[in-house]
Amino acid sequence: PTLLYLVPTPIGNLEDITLRAIRVLGEVDTVLAEDTRTSGRLMQHFGLKKPMLSYHLHNEHQQVQRLLERLEKGETMALVSDAGTPGISDPGFLLVRECLARGLKVECLPGPTALVPALLKSGFGAERFTFEGFLPVKKGRQTRLRELTQETRTMIFYESPHRIVKTLEQLAEVLGPERPASVSRELTKLFEETVTLPLAELAANFAARAAIKGEIVLVVQGRKEERIKEDHRADD
Ligand code: SAM
Repeated sequence: PTLLYLVPTPIGNLEDITLRAIRVLGEVDTVLAEDTRTSGRLMQHFGLKKPMLSYHLHNEHQQVQRLLERLEKGETMALVSDAGTPGISDPGFLLVRECLARGLKVECLPGPTALVPALLKSGFGAERFTFEGFLPVKKGRQTRLRELTQETRTMIFYESPHRIVKTLEQLAEVLGPERPASVSRELTKLFEETVTLPLAELAANFAARAAIKGEIVLVVQGRKEERIKEDHRADD
């Protein structure tokens, strides 16, 4: 029997919860939540009431052992994050890994996540893409940016509104000002917006705004394959 369920929740629009997510949240013994207040409100909206435990980045390591003991005794649990799919730039990975190592069955429900609509709204190639999550803020940032210059797949980043302009400017520096990029803001919400422009223009567009609010996904087109071949030829 499945003991742990990873349950995606809406990234804005509450209609995006799945029927299965509602059923599982109603059936498990305990709900593990990144923020019990946020998830408590969601549960209440769908008429659900369950014992909740907090499971977030800062207590993940110390919680895992205690949770494993309870799961091993047969308690069923659903892990939810504040929004979207648990384990995607959110806690979850550690618990899943430890459950699998002990032969405990884990089920992952498909559902809302911000990267997929942002990728598709960019109109860039979606056959092959790389999810970069959040760029390192300080240590390792330059190295990562340099590595990305070789990337031919479409790149997807999560970014905070305070850092988006700086990130766009830095990407324009390393990938070139003309590289097409797309910012999706407030996906599934009332003020949802997607702006697709060359990196330098996109940076200018956001730098000119009085305030940048809401959550952001940045999508950057990969490097054109031909250019790499040309460079290799130049190297010979
Ligand atoms: N687990 C989530 C998922 O599956 O997408 C991601 C959690 S991560 C801590 C939060 C980041 O996701 C935000 O900083 C933003 O980059 C992105 N995000 C979440 N909801 C979003 C939305 N409605 N519109 C745009 N970006 C969103």
